[in-house]
Amino acid sequence: MFEELEQIRGKCIKCEKCGLCKTRTNVVFSDGVPNNKLMLVGEAPGYWEDIKGKPFVGKAGQLLDKIFECVGLSREKDVYICNTIKCRPPENRNPLPEEKQACQEYLDKQIEILKPRIIIVCGNIALNSLLPNERGITRARGKWFDGPYGAKMIPIFHPSYLLRNDSREKGSPKWLTWQDIKEIRKVYDEIK
Ligand code: URA
Repeated sequence: MFEELEQIRGKCIKCEKCGLCKTRTNVVFSDGVPNNKLMLVGEAPGYWEDIKGKPFVGKAGQLLDKIFECVGLSREKDVYICNTIKCRPPENRNPLPEEKQACQEYLDKQIEILKPRIIIVCGNIALNSLLPNERGITRARGKWFDGPYGAKMIPIFHPSYLLRNDSREKGSPKWLTWQDIKEIRKVYDEIK
């Protein structure tokens, strides 16, 4: 299944289309299970992702795993995880427009091949790439948008933002994310 995905991974791990190929340790293509129900698109690899070649394996990734766990989902069984940018920008700076443009074809292909019914848009960089007309994650999070190939897309706060905002009070970013993940689970269960 999804042989095409392996082909595009093969192309991506050799990619030299932008300057990030000179500073990366590994290309970070994806983790989790290729499937046509649920995909999460994050920002870009950080330090640990670059070392290990897998998305969301640092502190933010551990929190992401917990968020999924709370509603009985996991990267081992249910979610395909990838990023907008496949190589780590030095010092975790925001990706440059030319880096985003160079990398766009890989994310486009991942979506085209899998045609996920739900795409979780995680953080501002992913929001800018997938929903460029939206004005920031705080406004967009928790809302459903029409996505490519009939997908439903829902932006959520990035887990590194949640790590910096510890409150769980009603209305806090963590509380809002809890509402969002429950909503995602509900719609996930409605998919045949
Ligand atoms: N943050 C992201 O957006 N993606 C990763 O893979 C790691 C941290």
